[in-house]
Amino acid sequence: MDEIQARIQELREELIELRRDFHAHPELGFEEFRTAEVIEQYLQDLGLSTKRMAKTGVAALLEGGRPGPVLMLRADMDALPISEETDVEYRSAKPGVMHACGHDAHMAMLLIAAKILVEKKQDLAGSIKFLFQPNEENAGALPMIEQGVLENPKVDGAMGLHIWTPLESGKVAVSAGPVMAGLDVFKITILGRGGHTGYPHQAVDPVIAAAGLIQAVQTIQTREIDQSQPTIIMFGKIQGGAKSNIIPDSVELEGTIRYLYPGGPDSEEQPAERFKRIARGVCETHRCSCDIRIEQENIPLVNEAGMAQLARQTALDVLGSETAVTSLQSIAGEDFSEFCARIPAVFCFLGSGNAAKGTTAAHHNPGFAIDEDVLPTGVALLVRGAFKFFMDWKSV
Ligand SMILES: [Zn+2]
Ligand SMILES: [Zn+2]
Repeated sequence: MDEIQARIQELREELIELRRDFHAHPELGFEEFRTAEVIEQYLQDLGLSTKRMAKTGVAALLEGGRPGPVLMLRADMDALPISEETDVEYRSAKPGVMHACGHDAHMAMLLIAAKILVEKKQDLAGSIKFLFQPNEENAGALPMIEQGVLENPKVDGAMGLHIWTPLESGKVAVSAGPVMAGLDVFKITILGRGGHTGYPHQAVDPVIAAAGLIQAVQTIQTREIDQSQPTIIMFGKIQGGAKSNIIPDSVELEGTIRYLYPGGPDSEEQPAERFKRIARGVCETHRCSCDIRIEQENIPLVNEAGMAQLARQTALDVLGSETAVTSLQSIAGEDFSEFCARIPAVFCFLGSGNAAKGTTAAHHNPGFAIDEDVLPTGVALLVRGAFKFFMDWKSV
């Protein structure tokens, strides 16, 4: 066993303790005040000075023994508005709030990685920016970017990872190109004219327009966009009407469009533009008018080829097996995409699904649990990834 591996093993208990402490004290996005204080204290104890950004975000810079590029390592901090339904002894102490996505583990792994990298700083040919980012579940990366996290010093590359229960424990997934989805959130109000359900010809029925619209927009996916470009259009909310025998004046629809390609107005596929065209057409067919609002909540996360190669090689070194390193695409969103859009960056998935240990529940499920035995692997990916980044940079 080499020196880094041995040190990770020595710190294993501390790693799990940190994760359990974060797990027991979850905080929602931009409310991670206790979490930020724990992180600041830990980093300051390592001799790093910390900077508070975007309300509850924390950044710290480690300067290596020799000059070189700047690598950013990022962990997210927020929990979810979910009531935990596990019976672990360190379960959430806060009713209705739970770390059900694994961000507790992300923070613990990055803190332990920071400790090891500080101990080894004389061997580092460059600097590391440790970034603890708030509010991942609803866009916390952008405020940190706007407040200059990628500048002073300028960041040359970034790496992030996510615990992933759909992927088996002992595996890591990393690949170039799009790996997590773009997400547009829409809200439509269909306006008709209310009336008596016995006299529909005297009214304009927004309910039948809503029914037609929900069906019609599905043809975007099946008839308009290449099947190799994954697209999902879902309605999560329908609201309208007061009583069984009254035609309502209006119906409201809300939902999401997810896609694994650029998606915006400049892309060939343009799912949002197609959506508006069909929705308006259906409403007009049914004599209704409509108000359509679509907001892009996440851009797709696209891994840069060079960084993906670096992470893949690191994973091969850490796991020591070709079959343990795989690739996956998720149709969930992730705001690490904002970093990927600006600098060479890579986002990896750390498998944590183990049926025997009961850690296969989906992310965002009240029964979500992680296999803590994979956490040392995450630390190794971050530490070795950093060394490899500086080493490869020199040879470029
Ligand atoms: Zn999540
Ligand atoms: Zn997450």
